[in-house]
Amino acid sequence: MTSSSLNPAPADAAERRKAPAIVCYSVDKVPPYDRPFYEAARQGLTEIAATIVPPREARTFEVPAGHFFRIVSIEGPQVGDLNLWNAHDLSERFFSGKTRALHATHVSTGDRLWSTLPNLRPMATITHDTLDWYGWDADGGGVHDVIGTRCDPYTQRLLAGTDYHHCCHSNLTRALAAHQGLSRVSAESHVHDVLNVFMCTGFTRDTHQYFMKASPVRPGDFIEFFAEIDLLGALSACPGGDCSASHSSDAAKCYPLKVEIHRPRAELLSQWRPPERSAYSRSHGL
Ligand SMILES: [Zn+2]
Repeated sequence: MTSSSLNPAPADAAERRKAPAIVCYSVDKVPPYDRPFYEAARQGLTEIAATIVPPREARTFEVPAGHFFRIVSIEGPQVGDLNLWNAHDLSERFFSGKTRALHATHVSTGDRLWSTLPNLRPMATITHDTLDWYGWDADGGGVHDVIGTRCDPYTQRLLAGTDYHHCCHSNLTRALAAHQGLSRVSAESHVHDVLNVFMCTGFTRDTHQYFMKASPVRPGDFIEFFAEIDLLGALSACPGGDCSASHSSDAAKCYPLKVEIHRPRAELLSQWRPPERSAYSRSHGL
């Protein structure tokens, strides 16, 4: 929205603007984060698999329900673009917009990554975040946003007139195609808005435009998730590196990311069950 208005403000403009701001959803009704359960489950984890995501590339990984996965910074500050699908049904995938509406523009420990309609269930729960100290900075920025979409070659062509083939959108498409045995054209339609792992972003105070700044992530930092359902994940090590200056080019210094899969103690899995898809899709129909 441009700041230069064409229409004069009405006489009661100030009064209209004074309407109270109400949080859109009754988020206090979201099933609470069961911290004792997840904290207990985190004790005694066994790493069972690991994947290195090379710079400017993406890799897939699978996480059985009831297991944990960590995205780890290993060599230098690097942002990751994360997609998640139901491992058995690619039509159920991460719903960035509803996750934003139910939690916030940026997510951390205790927040859930929700799946698309008609499922609307937690796909994953964030159980640890070594960057939770960052909070909100003086620019209004925070870490791990669900407001950006992913860098893509179409926007690059639109804005710069140039072609770049290692945008996160392209990387995620190629990785999913390889994993599923799909053509890249078929795989592309399954790629969706991401969780921007480790990315530091916000909206400018004056014009409310999306901004990025250097990620505070350092080697050893990680964000950890509990897989609520069987997951297929794809992670792109963004060509923007720490996203301090540019993306969609080879200009930025980039580093690999590591994805670790961890299995909890057996007794946890014997008592725990994945969340159901939304009951609405079964009881009412459309
Ligand atoms: Zn990117």
